[in-house]
Amino acid sequence: MIRVATFAGRRVAVFGLGGSGLATARALMAGGADVAAWDDGDAGRAAAEAAGVPLEDLKTSDWRGFAALVLSPGVPLTHPEPHWTVKLARSAGVEVIGDVELFARERAAVIKGIGLSCPLICITGTNGKSTTTALTAHILKTAGFDVQMGGNIGTPILELEPPVVHETIGERRFHVIEVSTFQLDLAPSLKPTFGVLLNLTPDHIDRHGTFENYAAIKEKMIAASHFAIIGVDDEHCRHVYSRQAIQRSGNANDQVPTGISGDKPVDPGIGVLRTKVGTTRDKEFRPLVDLAGVGALRGAHNAQNVAAALAATMPMLSMRAFSEDPANANAYLEALLEKAIATFPGLPHRMEEVGHVDRVLFINDSKATNADSTEKALSAFARDIYWIVGGKAKDGGITALAPYFPRVAKAYLIGEAKHDFAATLKDHVDISCCGTLENAVAAAAKDAALSSGAEPVVLLSPACASYDQFKNFEVRGDTFRSLVAALPGVALKGSAG
Ligand code: ADP
Repeated sequence: MIRVATFAGRRVAVFGLGGSGLATARALMAGGADVAAWDDGDAGRAAAEAAGVPLEDLKTSDWRGFAALVLSPGVPLTHPEPHWTVKLARSAGVEVIGDVELFARERAAVIKGIGLSCPLICITGTNGKSTTTALTAHILKTAGFDVQMGGNIGTPILELEPPVVHETIGERRFHVIEVSTFQLDLAPSLKPTFGVLLNLTPDHIDRHGTFENYAAIKEKMIAASHFAIIGVDDEHCRHVYSRQAIQRSGNANDQVPTGISGDKPVDPGIGVLRTKVGTTRDKEFRPLVDLAGVGALRGAHNAQNVAAALAATMPMLSMRAFSEDPANANAYLEALLEKAIATFPGLPHRMEEVGHVDRVLFINDSKATNADSTEKALSAFARDIYWIVGGKAKDGGITALAPYFPRVAKAYLIGEAKHDFAATLKDHVDISCCGTLENAVAAAAKDAALSSGAEPVVLLSPACASYDQFKNFEVRGDTFRSLVAALPGVALKGSAG
């Protein structure tokens, strides 16, 4: 845990007592702050009580005595309207910040210069944050570094081990942090060593007012990063890239932004040529890794995530390679990257390989809760897709996926959306209205086994929310996994035989 000493001896209000809120309260208390914690819900307050965190009804507090309000990222800061705690804090002139800001201040108190001896990698974007964060951490761990991964993924940032300064490259501790726009909005002094912006598409507009506001919050993190790594596959990010290139021109060479792409070489930058991800400089492409046959990183979207992870780690990996094996640094680096990519397990529910029954591959892509995400999954397989789709439909349904219908051998429809989706699909694709996931897995497994294709795939990529039939997408994906595990003759991924 990180002891937050920057508020020692001062009173701090903490609102929102989920996992990250409780971690925040504990970190502040460990650093000597006088914490007054509150949550609108009974469950949060009960958890705080059990953890020994002092509760105080912030509606009745004297706000002039607080040095800060630390807000959970799930609580509205600006839209649809500021939360009542934010209004009280503002009227008393109390600053409103989040746990990432507390981390940034603790780190600022120990680092020197730009903090390369205490590297902080922050990853944001509309899609791919978790995959890129996990992959970046995995690459660094494979290289033998001390890696602290968390933030919007897994462990709350203040529960990680603290930032420390190490001049020796091999001893360095990296913080690899996934940051959502909500967290960034509460972290005004965050200055990553490496900042990654993967992509920008309209999302969470209800919480940020406009797309411009949402995009500006992410761009601010990039502008504050020493090394800026920016996706150039969508128009909005390309504008961010151009603005950064102009703002940084004339600065030190390493501050020129690195462009990354999931489907083409970027000159200069890191992009893709056929199955390989590599750097390009003066039109010359130098491959770094080959994604052919890497099951955990299928599709152009994952190639973008790989390009980002490489851009964020290459400077440090190169230094490591030169210090470990000066005579063969390039070979050392290539072997390291090959091993890291081959051993990346992927994240559950995102194009997760569950296993095979003979030639038939079963993929759990339950995280795909909209057509955009399912498009990524369908585009990763050229043919023979036995597609399980449906649930609680989003606006627009699956009409945007029409270009991929020829790849689908048959669609198995589940949940509330089944009749609407049947209407969209019936003139193009063979369909079966299964209703439940259980029926769908049984029918798809049977049909796929009769396919003559080399590797037919039963793909759960619902393009829908799960709430009509499941608690959340994780439970839906876990159910799929258990159904596949019960199929006769199944060879599960990662298990022998
Ligand atoms: P996030 O943490 O941003 O939600 P994840 O890594 O969990 O992202 O991936 C969620 C879904 O987003 C994946 O299942 C996939 O459909 C899609 N996705 C992943 N990476 C990208 C990317 N680079 N570009 C576009 N979509 C992506």
